[in-house]
Formats: sequence, structure tokens, C-alpha cells
Amino acid sequence: MERQIRRAAVIGSGVMGASIAAHLANVGIPCLLLDIVPSQLTGEEKRKGLTLDSNEVRNRLAVNAIKKLKKNKPAPLYDEDLASLITPGNIEDDLERIKEVDWVVEVIVENLSIKKQLFERVEKVWEKGIIVSSNTSGISINAMVDGRSTEFKQHFLGTHFFNPPRYMKLLEIIPGDETLTEIVDVMRPFCENKLGKGVVIAKDTPNFIANRIGAYSMHVTLNEMLAKGYTIEEIDACTGPAIGRPKSATFRTLDIVGLDTFVHIANNMYEKVSDEAEKKVFKVPEILQQMVDKGWIGEKAEQGFYKKV
Ligand code: NAD
Repeated sequence: MERQIRRAAVIGSGVMGASIAAHLANVGIPCLLLDIVPSQLTGEEKRKGLTLDSNEVRNRLAVNAIKKLKKNKPAPLYDEDLASLITPGNIEDDLERIKEVDWVVEVIVENLSIKKQLFERVEKVWEKGIIVSSNTSGISINAMVDGRSTEFKQHFLGTHFFNPPRYMKLLEIIPGDETLTEIVDVMRPFCENKLGKGVVIAKDTPNFIANRIGAYSMHVTLNEMLAKGYTIEEIDACTGPAIGRPKSATFRTLDIVGLDTFVHIANNMYEKVSDEAEKKVFKVPEILQQMVDKGWIGEKAEQGFYKKV
């Protein structure tokens, strides 16, 4: 029987997970959107008399992500009614529901050991035939499923969307060593024809293709151009719409991506290179680490290189 992606599950409802869920809803694919269970109540939840066991609290992260998707302008959901195609949940209560879907995409924090732990849990409820992928920016696909069964690895691959997933055409598909060709043969036309992406098949090399090049350019900009006295505005003026990029330039992109996420991506690259010259290039620029330490992590904190006013 020909395999089709009719339903999906997105695990992680942050910057990328929520927008990927919105993109799926926009093309008519119902999806579960799962996140972790919060460990603390907010002031408002306390005032409402809720407890950590309340559904409203347990599903808070995914529910809030859907609210944001409806509110943002331009809205990632073209039509607010499409939000009903996204079912919010949490990985403690709802992970078993991935049995109902054809494709599970992991979109959680860029950290190998956290991703590995998640895939160990996913495999416990996974059924043969369900495709599982990671939206990692550059962590090794093979390393993430190290320790999993061969059957699971055969159904596993990288599907790397770019931010914002509604607008960015590029999608890297990264097969692991054991990914079945038939799985790539299902995902490629699905991503191209149904999701409207331009697919590039990448190898499982550190940061794959686009972020290997992108991280290099970002490091040169942060380490060298700023030091030479160029301003953020000047650099953005030369790297944004004026050169054909639809919206964002260098620093705006960093704010959209999230400086915390970029630091993870940069560290991942730094750990993988052994050559001293390359190490120098890929060392996380001090300015980035300082900003992350202050919580200036970009749009999601309303403060990054630019501030929301
Ligand atoms: P984010 O920090 O905005 O969101 C991560 C979400 O994952 C959070 O909501 C967090 O609560 C949740 N989470 C953490 N651990 C979890 C777990 N064990 N189970 C379920 N949920 C969990 O991060 P993001 O920017 O959306 O990035 C997510 C992934 O997508 C990363 O691998 C990142 O490298 C990749 N990516 C990010 C961008 C970008 O521009 N931000 C672009 C392409 C790929």
C-alpha cells in the first residue's frame, strides 16, 4: 500500500515547532502539537485556582503557542479556523497518540542528549511504519538514534525546515546510515508537493549544508565586521532585502532564529571541527554568549540585536 502523510505530530512548540504545525494546518494536515509539562504555575494560573495537574496547565506551552500563531501579524495561520486542525498536548499524557499519525517531527531544544532521551521515549510507543524525523539544525542524525532499534532507525531521518517555515522554501532532508530509501521517497515528494518546499538531500555532516555555510558567515560577521566598526544597521542593509533576501538580514535573522538556539548550533559545529583554524572560526563569538547570559535572546524575549518598542 502506498504510504501517505495524512496526520502528523510535532513535538516541541517553540519558535519552529509551532510554525511547522501552522504550516501543516495550512495545507490541511491535522497535527498534534506536544511540549513538556510546566513545572511551575504562573501567577494567573494560581489566581484561577489551577494546580499542576490541571489540563490547562499541563498543555499550557502548546496552547499558548497556538494562541500566538493566531495573533501574530502576518499570521502564520492564514485562516484562524485552521487552528482547529492543531491539537495541543503534552508529552507525558499524549505521547502515545503518535500511534494515530503517519509522521512525527521532533522540534525540541538543540541538544543531543535531550533529543536522544526523547527518541528513546518515542520508540517505546512507536509503531512500525510511522516516519520519525528531527528538525535539528545540525546535530548528527545517526547520533540522535544511537541505541535505537534498526527498524526505528530505518524510519528515521532529518527534515530541516528554515525559519520562518511558512516563507522559507528550503528544506534539507538528511537520511541516516540506515534510513530506508522508501522513507526518503515518501518524504521528498510530500515536502515538495504538499508543503511547497525546495528539497535538498544533505549528508549527515556537522550542520549539514546550509547551516555549515550560514554559521561560517555569521561568525565572520560577528567576529570581524563588528570589530572593524561596521554597525548592525549597515551590515543588515547589505545582507537583507537589498540583495534579494525576502525579509531578514544577518542580525534580524539571528533575532528571529533565537540567539540561544544559534549558540547551540555554533557549539555543535565547534565540537565537531578538529582543525585549529576552523576551531577559531567556529568558536561562539563572545558578544553572543554575553547577550544570551543577559536573556537577550531575540524576538522571543522581545530583545536581541533589535528591541521591540
Ligand atoms: P525553542 O527554544 O523556541 O523551542 C523548543 C521547544 O521545545 C520549547 O517549547 C521547549 O519547551 C520544548 N521542549 C524542550 N524539551 C522538550 C522535550 N523533551 N519534549 C517536548 N518538548 C520539549 O527552539 P526552536 O528555535 O523552535 O528550535 C527547535 C529545533 O529546531 C532545534 O533543533 C533547532 O536547532 C531547530 N531549528 C531552529 C531554527 C530557528 O530558526 N530557531 C531553524 C531551523 C531549525
